[in-house]
Amino acid sequence: MTSFPSTMQVAPLTVRDIVHHAERVYSDRRIFTVEADGVREATFAEVISRARRLATALENLGVTRGERVATLMWNNQEHLEAYVAVPTMGAVLHTLNLRLFPDQLAYVINDADDAVIIADASVLGLIARIRDRISPRHLIVRGTPEDSYGLEFLDYEELLATVDNDDYSWPDLDENTPAIACYTSGTTGDPKGVVYSHRSLWLHSLAIQTQNSIALGESDRALLVVPMFHVNAWGMPYGGLWCGADLVMPQMFLKGEHLASTIQQLRPTLALGVPTIWMDLLRAATTGEYDLSSLRVLVAGGAAVPATLIRAYRDQLGLTVLQGWGMTETSPLVAVAVPPIGAEGEDEITYRAKTGRLVAGVEIRVVNEEGEVLPHDGKSVGELELRGPWIAASYIKGREPDSFHDGWLRTGDIGTVDARGFIVISDRRKDVIKSGGEWISSVELENLVMGHPSVHQAAVIAVPHERWQERPLCLVVLREGEDLDVEDLRRHLAPHVASWWIPEFWATLPEMPLTSVGKFDKRELRRRHGEGEIEVVSV
Ligand code: AMP
Repeated sequence: MTSFPSTMQVAPLTVRDIVHHAERVYSDRRIFTVEADGVREATFAEVISRARRLATALENLGVTRGERVATLMWNNQEHLEAYVAVPTMGAVLHTLNLRLFPDQLAYVINDADDAVIIADASVLGLIARIRDRISPRHLIVRGTPEDSYGLEFLDYEELLATVDNDDYSWPDLDENTPAIACYTSGTTGDPKGVVYSHRSLWLHSLAIQTQNSIALGESDRALLVVPMFHVNAWGMPYGGLWCGADLVMPQMFLKGEHLASTIQQLRPTLALGVPTIWMDLLRAATTGEYDLSSLRVLVAGGAAVPATLIRAYRDQLGLTVLQGWGMTETSPLVAVAVPPIGAEGEDEITYRAKTGRLVAGVEIRVVNEEGEVLPHDGKSVGELELRGPWIAASYIKGREPDSFHDGWLRTGDIGTVDARGFIVISDRRKDVIKSGGEWISSVELENLVMGHPSVHQAAVIAVPHERWQERPLCLVVLREGEDLDVEDLRRHLAPHVASWWIPEFWATLPEMPLTSVGKFDKRELRRRHGEGEIEVVSV
């Protein structure tokens, strides 16, 4: 038998392809940056031209291949310029989370050994607080700070002005070259870092354009509420450049009223963010007079999206919510809850409230505590494990090696997968409530409680119990003017869950503590409860 080698070209998959395509095909598409006094606009061509100057300037400062250039920035045009320049010149972009505690921020800057930090003027105070603990060679500041805190820095625009041409020619790179470093938000212990490669970013950027994920295309204008330091704003910066979708960058103007007026003014077709953002937008949109009709979809991920939120958007505003699941370790796209063909009415809501349907390119398996692989029957519950070309194979410096085995990532998420690839996450492993040896899903309880008309937000944590080892404590933020009526809430849960799931411990919170990326902060709730700061009502 004769065999043939493939006759196809071997082309490295690098970010340069995305930049070239954006420049040659979509040069007139635009980036909008929201400022306190209006909106700034630039075309893709302008952004990429400025990115070439930035690359030259960084090389002039001595930045070499593989070195880390960090950003401590809101979502704005200049942040996108760094996204274009840094990986494409062969250095590694490290997107710093500007909501980390100073200790954690210093830790990740040192762990990644960042050579340069590009910071927005408004966050210079944060750098000043850790100045004695970090030693980047250069600090570059975008905008004019109110106070320089005695820090030495280069001005971003002046630096670009030192380069009198934009002929920088992007180098040839191997597709496995490291491109972007991102640390987890560190809700347990120190943040862990992953490094995306050019290849993984290339493939992921294509995946978000497919119809069974979020179908990003030239007809879109995407509002990036999710920060560019939270898993690359879920792939939108490169995805948008590659398919010619306009990008709207809201910087720090993220309150519901602000987002609603940005949507009314700039008419994006999709917007992406965590559910807490969409809860706030809903509040603002239903009390104000805003036109949000430009939106074809609100993409929600990073935490479970309650069915009531999805229904409220449909019924009150005529808007569609699209839930997705991902992690820092997964670039992040893994699953998107696009309902199957023919699903309508309540059936459609049921599918949209699932965690998501597996996207092409990623494999999943469900594994129990004994290490057995369980069937995809929608019932068998276990830890979800993933593999694929944009899934991490390790953490920076080989940390926490137990998260990876046999080529699979252990996600730490517990759930089920059905025969059509729909995934339902019931908990993070660390949040599972073990009552009398059986699991209670905190996510399911939260979603049901948030369906009660008096409740704005709900989080359920495990509390130690003499007889049952653990029992659920439900912490609620009530809607304005409402009182806690535990019996009514328990009655509300009764038709939906086994009686032993129903919490007997309840408490109210004036507001929900949030993590640095806007998720309910259960670690903080456990701490407050452990230290007796929460007044618990028990029945
Ligand atoms: P991060 O790395 O900060 O993006 O956090 C990833 C984690 O967020 C996942 O492992 C999940 O526990 C959680 N998560 C993300 N999306 C969803 C979702 N749609 N439903 C439930 N949990 C989610």
